[in-house]
Amino acid sequence: MKLKDKVAFVTGAASGLGHEIALTFAREGARVVIADLNEQAAIAAAQRLADAGHQALGVAVDVANETQVSQAVDRAVAHFGGLDILVSNAGIQIVRPVEEFSFEEWKRMLSIHLDGAFLTTRAALRHMYAAGRGGSIIYMGSVHSKEASLLKAPYVTAKHGLTGLAKVVAKEGAPHGVRANVICPGFVRTPLVDKQIPEQARTLGISEDDVVRKVMLKDTVDGEFTTSADVAEVALMFASFPSNALTGQSMVVSHGWFMQ
Ligand code: NAD
Repeated sequence: MKLKDKVAFVTGAASGLGHEIALTFAREGARVVIADLNEQAAIAAAQRLADAGHQALGVAVDVANETQVSQAVDRAVAHFGGLDILVSNAGIQIVRPVEEFSFEEWKRMLSIHLDGAFLTTRAALRHMYAAGRGGSIIYMGSVHSKEASLLKAPYVTAKHGLTGLAKVVAKEGAPHGVRANVICPGFVRTPLVDKQIPEQARTLGISEDDVVRKVMLKDTVDGEFTTSADVAEVALMFASFPSNALTGQSMVVSHGWFMQ
């Protein structure tokens, strides 16, 4: 077991990629905090893990709310006696051309993705530094941390921003044994992506099938979606890596859509 007795706080873990990462970490022996805006789904997901013999706690949190984040992280630390891994994963998507974005939508996107990453990182680092047992901070970036696409101005802006935050946390965290890295997935069929397909079809005036083949998977090497399991495998590597040798990096897992 690669994460035996580690404590992992995973945001947005009631659904999609965060959920798969939480499951994978639990199977590797971690005690997992399922932190999500959707309280019922977070508690249900934690209960399913507990029923399968794992240790899990479901907590409600809006990652863009300073008070809620510090209370949720404090609760997790009190419950499990520490914190070793943060996966800052919660996110949403809004697609439209730049000129049609409202300022409110722009700010909401940046707040969930960037304020959320900052607030959860700060809360986690305070505990990690005080405990002196190191740690791993993992950000959910995207191919959009490296590339741009039509209709995604705030998302691309925020995902690029996460790589900057990870590099600073890698430098500041190093003396404390805390690493920081970014996972950059291509398209994965989660609720976040399923919602975009009809929206993009409408905005671009093409069929849903064309959104998948000619927009989402156009530049992959094999026309395949990345899977939640692929992403969770990379998260496990970042979480379990034993030294500061692997820090400040972003790993693209996208069927070759983007090549470094
Ligand atoms: P999802 O919609 O399946 O899950 C997102 C989860 O985040 C949901 O459970 C939701 O309730 C939660 N959430 C939303 N806002 C929140 C908030 N303010 N506070 C706490 N929780 C909140 O989406 P997903 O596809 O699993 O996306 C997870 C992350 O992966 C996002 O950051 C997304 O940008 C990123 N990502 C997804 C893909 C993809 O193709 N699915 C690709 C690259 C990156």
